[in-house]
Amino acid sequence: MKSRKLLMIPGPIEFEPKVLQALGAPTTSHVAPNFIESFGNCIALMRKVWLAPTGQPFVVAGTGTFAMDMAAANLIEPNDNVLVISTGYFGERFAEIAKRYGANVTILASKVGDIVSLDDIEKALSTKKYKLLTITHVDTSTGVLVNPKPIAELAKKHHTLSILDGVCSVAGEEIRQEEWGIDVVLTASQKAVGVPPGLALLVVSQKALEVFNNRKTPVGNYYADFNNWLPIMKAYESRQASYFGTPPVNLIAALEVSLLQIVAEGMDNRFLRHQKIASAFREAMMALGLKLLPVHKNLSANTLTAVYFPKNTTGSIFLSHIGKNDVILAGGLLPSHKTKYFRVGHMGSVNNNDIIATIAAIESALSASKFPFEIGIGLKTALKILND
Ligand SMILES: *Cc1c(COP(=O)(O)O)cnc(C)c1O
Repeated sequence: MKSRKLLMIPGPIEFEPKVLQALGAPTTSHVAPNFIESFGNCIALMRKVWLAPTGQPFVVAGTGTFAMDMAAANLIEPNDNVLVISTGYFGERFAEIAKRYGANVTILASKVGDIVSLDDIEKALSTKKYKLLTITHVDTSTGVLVNPKPIAELAKKHHTLSILDGVCSVAGEEIRQEEWGIDVVLTASQKAVGVPPGLALLVVSQKALEVFNNRKTPVGNYYADFNNWLPIMKAYESRQASYFGTPPVNLIAALEVSLLQIVAEGMDNRFLRHQKIASAFREAMMALGLKLLPVHKNLSANTLTAVYFPKNTTGSIFLSHIGKNDVILAGGLLPSHKTKYFRVGHMGSVNNNDIIATIAAIESALSASKFPFEIGIGLKTALKILND
């Protein structure tokens, strides 16, 4: 019997077969014509996916954390004021990274499952001059979605750069980088972009590059320095090879395939698909009598959902029941609530069948846990939304 498992965690996700085929193709030289073409194409395609026609893409081997590190290393100088808008674990991480580069960090943290109000952000920006602020679009620890558009507008008004941690949102949640005026939007390959782990992906505005070019101190991180990577990105974009560090040839070939699929789907269609599947899943959880971590339904992400374990169950046992149904879900991440909830990723190539299978596995686990509910009510609720 095949041991097929459905991977429904917030990254890595299920990948498209053609993406995996590209990853498994023989590795070429990083100066081979076909690779130069793929790399150059990735850079052009990123601008379409990020909706940032004049942005500067960076494709570098690393994880999402490295993408955060790269943004911070290049845009922060010692004693710069940095405002971190935190909705959970990854906001805290951004604060740690910014401190490492000598920033004076102010954290505006939300209550668990909530967001920081625009009033509080405006107040902070009016009392002190901040070089930059960071926003976590979807904090993967809470499943809370922040609307970055009004925050980026406030940042612009106060001459502050805005950095969006889009690791759990790019190519899933609506982002219009240029229209919304966000200076850096960063992600990693293994989430909604749909490529196995290993690539840090950033698009940087011309304004942020100008700020970078006016630095007074050298970048305190050799590998992350834009000065080392900009010539590489520019060379490959003009279809020439260049070397700083060996590019992850296979991952970049796979990235091209995935970005082509994303652009072929169309960004608006893709945002809508994520919204519909997420809404079906959330409504199903609520119909089953389960509670979501976000304090309001309209703060819930479309790329993942965080759900409290049913009362009177042990989380690890509940998740193992789901695992027996061949669906892999993730446990909690937020230290204060870690054992109280689970997380379901529904991004990238996720389809209706995946989410139905996931809801069915959750219903089976609820039955096994003797949780009182009407069998099938989650599935029925989801199908009504998906078939609409
Ligand atoms: C996953 C994630 C990260 C970290 O990415 P890694 O690839 O694990 O380093 C950062 N921010 C958010 C919002 C994430 O979801």
